[in-house]
Amino acid sequence: WAKADGKARWTLFDPERNAHRMTRQALSSTLRPAVERDEFVLQYQPLVGLGDGVVRGVEALVRWRHPQFGTLAPNRFIGLAEETGAIVPLGRWVLATACRQARRWQLAHPREPIVVSVNVAVRQVWDSDLVADVAAILTETGLPPSLLQLELTESAVMGSAGRPLQQLQQLSDMGVAIAIDDFGTGYSNLAYLSRLPVSTLKLDGSFVRGFRSEEPPNPADETIVEALVQLAHRLGIKVTAECVESAEQAERLGRIGCDTGQGWFYSRPVPADSISALLSTGVRP
Ligand code: C2E
Ligand code: MG
Ligand code: MG
Ligand code: MG
Repeated sequence: WAKADGKARWTLFDPERNAHRMTRQALSSTLRPAVERDEFVLQYQPLVGLGDGVVRGVEALVRWRHPQFGTLAPNRFIGLAEETGAIVPLGRWVLATACRQARRWQLAHPREPIVVSVNVAVRQVWDSDLVADVAAILTETGLPPSLLQLELTESAVMGSAGRPLQQLQQLSDMGVAIAIDDFGTGYSNLAYLSRLPVSTLKLDGSFVRGFRSEEPPNPADETIVEALVQLAHRLGIKVTAECVESAEQAERLGRIGCDTGQGWFYSRPVPADSISALLSTGVRP
């Protein structure tokens, strides 16, 4: 209840909500300095060929090692970073760190090209010079553009005309791959996407979930995914399935033509050193 008689305003004190708000504020105001203090780390999760079990690439996933709150998952701070604009310096740090690491893998495993796939937020495409940042980072790290993929969500590219579209086109012309992340959760306008320089669709985990024997089988899921994969392939677009958690899912997704899979079945997101070990020993087929 609130008493708003002009003199005083009383509101019911909800400690949990208040703590939540304070945490949000604390995180929000320390994001930028945290980038400078080097409080972020990247983990990497393999992208595996569904047919052969070969590691084709890795997705870089950011974590915040917060001095007070411990290790924070991206859902705790990426939204805040987008709101405050801190995503631009943070995104630059992620790109530079991932490319530097990918170059190390390239030198250590010259015969197994490993693509590093980096998430890019809407604001990085709309409010910053992503092309200049990527070009500078590739030059600095020596990573060939063909070993970099950028993941954008449908909402980030939908309706992107003008500068954002120009940036995507320039990145693609440089030889950097563009992937659509969480495909199927937004407008899913494949006709529109086919006019953008997109080389891969990352099929959202919600589609993949139906590919499990514990669930009541939903034949529509499989039919939809199969049709999507066929359509994507005809447009020259590859398909990666997210959230592959079982051998059965991997087998069925491979059978209907998905190119690569990513998920706990292969590996959780792990530190860079564990990826080096994986590259030497291989993953399960
Ligand atoms: P995303 O790009 O779709 O990344 C995949 C998410 O699914 C990751 O969560 C990953 O840990 C999780 N995942 C992988 N395999 C499985 C599985 O088999 N089962 C299940 N249930 N989950 C799986 P994470 O690391 O918490 O990242 C969440 C989201 O945060 C990412 O979703 C991405 O949108 C965003 N994000 C992460 N790193 C960055 C970054 O550097 N920049 C930006 N802009 N966003 C990032
Ligand atoms: Mg992603
Ligand atoms: Mg995704
Ligand atoms: Mg996802």
